[in-house]
Amino acid sequence: MSVNVLFAATQARWSEYETPMRSAIAATGVDAHIATDIAPDQVDYIVYAPNSDLLDFAPYTRAKAVLNLWAGVEAIVGNPTLHLPLARMVDPALTQGMVEWVTGHILRLHLGMDAHIDATPGTWKPQAPPLAFDSRVTILGLGELGAACATALGTFGFDVAGWSRSPKQINGVNCFSGPEGLEASLERADYCVLLLPDTPATENTLNARTLALMPKGARILNPGRGPLIDDHALLSALDNGQIDHATLDVFRIEPLPADHPFWTHPKVTVTPHVASETRAAYSSETIAENIRRGEAGEPFAHLVDRQAGY
Ligand code: NAP
Repeated sequence: MSVNVLFAATQARWSEYETPMRSAIAATGVDAHIATDIAPDQVDYIVYAPNSDLLDFAPYTRAKAVLNLWAGVEAIVGNPTLHLPLARMVDPALTQGMVEWVTGHILRLHLGMDAHIDATPGTWKPQAPPLAFDSRVTILGLGELGAACATALGTFGFDVAGWSRSPKQINGVNCFSGPEGLEASLERADYCVLLLPDTPATENTLNARTLALMPKGARILNPGRGPLIDDHALLSALDNGQIDHATLDVFRIEPLPADHPFWTHPKVTVTPHVASETRAAYSSETIAENIRRGEAGEPFAHLVDRQAGY
C-alpha cells in the first residue's frame, strides 16, 4: 500500500520540489502518493514549510511525522495542535552554503577588501592585511552549521572558539558552554558569528552587556536569526565604536522594513536571508530518508527537542 505524503508549502515551492521529491522518495523504494491536497485523515507524512497555510495539525490523525523543509523551527515548534514527531532540515548543501557565506564574509572584513573595491582610482595605499593566525573567531552555536563553520575557519588558520548549550569537543576548536562560557567566548571574539536557534533562551544573546564584553572594534556576523541580537544595543555599539561592523542576514521582521536604520548604517551590511538556502535536490533526500525510516520502523533523524525549542 502506498503512503500519502502531503506537501504543505507555497505553490512556488511545490513547483520546485515536485520532481526531486518524487524521485528521492522513489529511490528509497517507498511507494508514495505525494500531493498538495490530501484529506487530513489520510495523510501519513507532512512535508512542511513554515509559511504554508497549515496551522492546525489536529485533523491529521494518522500522520507519523512532520518533516520541516527549513533548519529553523521557531515558527512551528510551539504550535499547540502539533503532537507529532517534528524533524528539522539537515543536509550537506545547507551546511556547505552556510560555510561559504560565513567564510566569505569573514574574509571580506579580515582582508579589508572594501578599501580596494571602493578605492579612488590613482590612489596607491598599500597596507598588508593581518593573517588569520592573529584573528580570533567565536561561533555562538556549535550544531550542524556552527561546527562546520568553526572547522572550516580553523583550516584557514583562524583561532576559533565556539559556544553551545551542552559541552562539546571539536578538533581545533576551543569549546565553551553555559552562561560563564558565553562571557569567556565573547571576551576573545574579534569576530562573532551567531548560529544559534531562535528560542526563548537565546533571544538577545547579544545585548548591551554582552556586546561590551567583546574586544573594542569586534565584528559581528548574524546568519542565525534576528531575535538573537538586541537591534538598539547593536546600533549603539556600532555608533560608539565598540563594534566595527555587523554583517546581518536575518532580522526580527523580514523583509527588513525599508526605513530600518540597518539599511543605511555605514557599518552594517545587509544580506536578504540568503546565507544558506534549502535546495530542493538535496533537501528532498533528507525528507525521503526520514520517510524510509518511518516506514522501516526506525527512529527519525534530526528530531526537534520540543522542550528546548530546537
Ligand atoms: P543546531 O544543529 O540545532 O545547532 C544549534 C546550536 O545552538 C547547538 O550547538 C546548540 O547547543 C546551541 N544552542 C541552542 N540553544 C542554546 C543556548 N540556550 N545556549 C547556548 N547554545 C545553545 O542548528 P543548526 O542546523 O546549526 O542551525 C542553526 C540556526 O541557523 C538555525 O536554527 C537557523 O535559525 C539558522 N539558519 C539560517 C539560515 C540562513 O539562511 N540564514 C539557514 C539555515 C539555518 P547544543 O549543541 O548543546 O544543543
